[in-house]
Parts: sequence; C-alpha cells; structure tokens
Amino acid sequence: MIAENLHKVLSTIQPGIRLVAVSKFHPVSALQEAYDAGQRVFGESHVQELVEKQHLLPKDIEWHFIGHLQTNKVKYMAPFISLIHAVDTEKLLKEIDKQAERNNRVIDCLLQIHIAKEETKFGFTPNELRTMLQEGEWRRFSHVRICGLMCMATNTDDENLIAGEFEYANTFFQEIKHDYFQSEPSFRELSMGMSGDYMIAQQHGSTMVRIGTMIFGERNYSCNYNPSETHHILIT
Ligand SMILES: *Cc1c(COP(=O)(O)O)cnc(C)c1O
Repeated sequence: MIAENLHKVLSTIQPGIRLVAVSKFHPVSALQEAYDAGQRVFGESHVQELVEKQHLLPKDIEWHFIGHLQTNKVKYMAPFISLIHAVDTEKLLKEIDKQAERNNRVIDCLLQIHIAKEETKFGFTPNELRTMLQEGEWRRFSHVRICGLMCMATNTDDENLIAGEFEYANTFFQEIKHDYFQSEPSFRELSMGMSGDYMIAQQHGSTMVRIGTMIFGERNYSCNYNPSETHHILIT
C-alpha cells in the first residue's frame, strides 16, 4: 500500500523536484516499507521521534527536519541531519552553526518564510528576513550552509490564494538569491508543497515537496511519540 502510494506520488512529481516523504507519527515499519520501495529522503518534525527512527533505520537515509526546532534540541540531530527546513530565527541558525562545528560538519539549512494568512505559523516575514540578511552576522556562521527557503501556504481550499502565496514565495526567493547568494549555486532550494497543495507548488518554482498523508495515510496523533512511550511504539 505504501509502496503503491509512493509510486503514485512520484509519478506526479516533475523532473528535478525532490520528494521528502513526511513520516512523522508513522511507525518505523511504515518508513521501512517506503525505504524498501526506494525512498531515501524522510522528513520528521519531532526531535525525539527523529532520533529514535534514525537509530533504528538504515544509515543511508537522508533525514530532513521539517518542524519548528527549539535551540536546545539542535544538539540531538546535529551528528546526522541532512537538511533543516524551518530555520526561523538567527539565534537558531547560530546554534546550528555551533553544534555543526562540534560535530565537524556543515549543516544545510533553509530559512522559513511566513507567507500564509494564518497567524500561528512560524517563520520570518519577508522584511524580517531582508533585515537579518542585510545585517550580515550569519556570514560568520561557517558551519551552516543556507540552501534556500521553505514555506507553507494557507490551509484553504482556495487554490487561487495558495497559488498567489507560492508565487510570492518564488519571487521572494529569486530576490534573496539575487541580493545575497548570486555566487552560491548551493542556494537553490525552495521547499514548498504538501499533500494538499504540491501540484500547485510545482507550478510556482518548488524544488522540494514535503508529502506525508498521500504516502502514509492519515496520521494517528493518539499514538504519538511521547518520549516515555516511544520505545514501546517503535518496537511493536
Ligand atoms: C506534516 C507536514 C507536512 C506533510 O503534510 P501532509 O499534508 O501530510 O502531506 C509537510 N510540511 C510540514 C512542515 C509538515 O509539518
């Protein structure tokens, strides 16, 4: 079932766009199934769950962290994380730099921009991000590599609104690339699009889509990965 879903999703993804299989709240067995079907990039949004799964699953998986990240938890993923999608403060970027250095690594990051109507979502507003990049302290963070931007559209059925938000993100991405990363080919990712809106995102410059439900089905939040229970859940 998961393999079938995965292949169906992959057949709708444009060449050059990467699929992050969002596996949060799904058991290790589900990830293994997607892995066996060829998927190597997985996205998680809770640190404890990510660390446990990384420990149990094959080592050639590329783990992406897609959720809101607290600075005090960066250290747990710093040894292995491939890409942190939702960096939303300079303080967090600085902490990632510090933990990456401790692990003798350079960690790839995306800066999250807030473009949706909802108030609750994290991320820099475009002006906040312009200001941070302008001030330039980030240039001293030699153990992080800023590879692009990430965003979420408003959760709505209004496809015109979603398309407008993604197009805005794309324009803003081009601006930031032009103003600050022109000579850096590694600044090339625009992470946008989830199960409900990735077809729209693909038409507006997305380079990376983050898809969970269409691959793994609905998430069961009642059997969540509470750290104290995690062990039982992962072993069953
Ligand atoms: C959960 C999540 C997704 C995947 O959502 P689906 O609707 O299940 O595809 C994508 N991006 C982020 C940031 C998420 O938290």
